[in-house]
This record gives sequence, C-alpha cells and structure tokens, in this order.
Amino acid sequence: MYKNWENLESDCKSCCKCNLFKTRNNVVFGVGNKRSKVLFVGEGPGENEDLQGEPFVGRAGKLLDKMLNEVGLSRKENIYIANIVKCRPPNNRDPLPEEQENCVIWLREQFQLLNPVIVVCLGRIAALKLIKPDIKITKEHGLFFKKGQTVFMPTLHPAALLRNPSMQQDALKDFLKLKKFMEIKKFIINRQI
Ligand code: URA
Repeated sequence: MYKNWENLESDCKSCCKCNLFKTRNNVVFGVGNKRSKVLFVGEGPGENEDLQGEPFVGRAGKLLDKMLNEVGLSRKENIYIANIVKCRPPNNRDPLPEEQENCVIWLREQFQLLNPVIVVCLGRIAALKLIKPDIKITKEHGLFFKKGQTVFMPTLHPAALLRNPSMQQDALKDFLKLKKFMEIKKFIINRQI
C-alpha cells in the first residue's frame, strides 16, 4: 500500500505486468483533484489518451467535460478521473479480463489514497468490474450502490452517448444526481483542509 501519490504514479508508469506495455506510448495514470471525494472511472485509454497520457481527452472526453460543466463541475477542481486499465488496448478493443485484473491493483491504490465517498463508473466495463458482474447499465445507470463506506453510481459511457445522442439527457440526469449528492455531503467545493 502506497503512502503518497508520487511513488504510486512512478511505479505505475513503469508497469510491465501485462502485454499492453509493449504497445503503449504512455501510461495513463489519472488526472484531477487529489483532494476530491469523487472518483470517476472509465474503461481504458484510447488513441488520444495513449498519445497525451491523460484520460478522456478525445471526443468522448470533450463530451464528458461538457456534461461536467453543465452541472457546474470540472475535472481540475471537483473530481479525480482514472481508468480500470492504464495502457491502451490495441485497436480500442475491450481490455481482457486478465489485463483488468492485473491493472486494477493500481486503481485500488488510487482509491486508498483518494478515499472517495462516491465512485462514478463510466460505462459497462467499469461498472461490471467495480459494482457487480451482472449489471445492466442501460437499466441501472443513475442508481446508487453502497459497498462498505463507498457509494458507486454507474452511468453511460460518453463514447456510447456519442453513438446514441438520444441518451445524453438520461446521462445528464445522472450527473445532476451526483451534483445533488455532493451538495448534500457538502463537498462540492475543493475539499482543501
Ligand atoms: N474511454 C475510457 O474509458 N477512458 C478514457 O480515458 C478514454 C476513453
């Protein structure tokens, strides 16, 4: 277990636990406010993320930022964003179960350091891995699942919303629900001590 972000990030960035290290340009560790109590988790880097070393910087990422902005949140100030796998699966295929299993240890360490009150799972892969293996994202998005001290909320993946723009309003309702939750818990502003 890591005591600081610097050591965790540097070890993660030299990880060779699975074959994805052979084809990556960058390890996409995570970004955002490390004091935030809100963790967003995606599936894994795509081409732009692999090139830039930051999660959600492509078209799906722009939509994510727009939706955050619509509810008055931003990746820099209010949330932390990471992925289940930190290296890009070739041709944007789904990360294999063993890749997820190997890589999720880094996310667990991020979780320990951040100690989030709520985890928003962006899309099916993150929701399956972190909430339950039989989750139906189209039916269960926006619901709160309590596990231990932490609440998990699945929502639709922004890339899916680009393919199905008619679902964007539903997803926005999930974001509004998150915002309300953050207001009730009084950690809407940077939680600086
Ligand atoms: N999709 C994801 O799930 N994560 C990213 O970082 C980018 C796209």
